[in-house]
Amino acid sequence: MADNLKSHYVIVGAGIAGISAVDAIREVDRDRDIIVINGENVEPYCRPLIVDVLRGEKSFDEIHLREPDWYKERNVTLITGDPASRLDIAGNTVELESGNTVTWEKLLIATGSVPSTPPIKGLDTVPSHTLYREDDIDALKAACKKGDKALLAGIGLIGLQAMTSLKELGVEITAVELMPKVLPLILDQKASEYAKRRLEEHGIEVIVGSGIAEFKPADGGDHPYAAVTDRGSEIGFDLLVMATGMRPELSLLDGTEIDIDRGIVVTPQMATSVPGIYAAGDVTVFDNWIEGHADLHAHWVNAFHQGRIAGVNMADGRTEQYRPMYLNSLSIFGLPIITFGSSRIDEPEDADVFIKENPGRPSFRRFVVKDGKLIAATLINDVQNAGVFQYLAREKVDIGDIASSLFEQDLAGMDFLYQHHEKVVSGENIDWPESMSLIKWFKKDHSHTRWGKKEAGEKSKK
Ligand SMILES: Cc1cc2nc3c(=O)[nH]c(=O)nc-3n(C[C@H](O)[C@H](O)[C@H](O)COP(=O)(O)OP(=O)(O)OC[C@H]3O[C@@H](n4cnc5c(N)ncnc54)[C@H](O)[C@@H]3O)c2cc1C
Repeated sequence: MADNLKSHYVIVGAGIAGISAVDAIREVDRDRDIIVINGENVEPYCRPLIVDVLRGEKSFDEIHLREPDWYKERNVTLITGDPASRLDIAGNTVELESGNTVTWEKLLIATGSVPSTPPIKGLDTVPSHTLYREDDIDALKAACKKGDKALLAGIGLIGLQAMTSLKELGVEITAVELMPKVLPLILDQKASEYAKRRLEEHGIEVIVGSGIAEFKPADGGDHPYAAVTDRGSEIGFDLLVMATGMRPELSLLDGTEIDIDRGIVVTPQMATSVPGIYAAGDVTVFDNWIEGHADLHAHWVNAFHQGRIAGVNMADGRTEQYRPMYLNSLSIFGLPIITFGSSRIDEPEDADVFIKENPGRPSFRRFVVKDGKLIAATLINDVQNAGVFQYLAREKVDIGDIASSLFEQDLAGMDFLYQHHEKVVSGENIDWPESMSLIKWFKKDHSHTRWGKKEAGEKSKK
């Protein structure tokens, strides 16, 4: 017989958004029940680190978001492997696949993203993989053999991580990107040349500006399968990885009245259009403060912050507000890249573009200034002062006349930077360096004990 459970707080999705909401709730409300519905069959884990598991650098147990006891100690019921299947908003109830139901006072939807795969002819006739969940890792690992040739469709952030991991496993790679540049959502054409060259230097064949028209079994040759590009050439492969993008996981919302515009529309307090229901993380759409329109932005640190803000607001109704960050920090075979703002736009309208590059090193810096304000930056292999630049953009600091001095880092520019550097370090008006260090710390030095201590004792400095 089905169970009918009740809980003051119900959280659907146990990614970083869901789990950081639990943290925030427990900071202000130690008593009322929390049920977290985890749709996966394993303990909640740090999603970006699945690539470390793929290349054998970490075991799955090392990337848990929290130790199993953590939930018990905080009086949190974690329901694992039983996804939510339907929302009954009038009855404040969520139905699970098992048939059990859970009734909420406050609900958080934190269902994240799912891979988005275009309907390419013949895709169902070849074995293909995605890279998003823990079970993708096992499947991909089992399919990879040293010396195999992988075809990677899509050279965005996830495709890039797939590539570097597969390469370390001894797999040969051809990567195809529909757009005319690699990392098209974060890099302009010129910056993307640096990224492309780095990939090629590491033995990856990169084809940009070409879609895949069809997949089919190969007619002979060294590999069992082939892709036909829209330019008509054929690429043989043993293994296909589809990294063609992500979209918010909205299936639970079918037939509900919650406002959706590609993702769940939320207020800065993470409230949806239905009272008592909140949303956080990759599943949401929110205002892009730089480009001035609503945007999706799958980003771990954003999901972390949104989850916290949703949790605080659910627990005591304080009006804590979220301000998104459009910052990406990555490394391509050791080449560090930081971007923020509308860095992907090749020819920004009514804006000045400042570029400083050293192809020999190689290094590249590009800044976009509009109406005296910094609106985008790309820093490749020269990431000094990235925090200060992000601060200047986020706080809309008027850099008017000093822009070129600033980016050249001459005396006047350095002086200006250091004045603002102090504000960033002291945390005045801004908390991003701390939050960025969260994922960096998590990536470099994952340790449950330290994470646990930080939460219990050292609350974030505001
Ligand atoms: C390989 C990879 C590398 C990445 N690297 C980076 C990086 O370096 N930096 C960065 O900023 N971001 C990175 N990201 C993106 C980052 O992981 C996401 O932005 C972040 O995980 C979003 O968190 P979330 O909690 O919103 O969603 P998710 O992490 O997607 O978690 C949502 C959870 O909800 C579950 N769920 C969905 N539907 C239901 C349901 N009906 N019932 C119950 N549960 C449900 C899902 O299965 C999932 O477990 C990476 C992503 C991948 C895949």
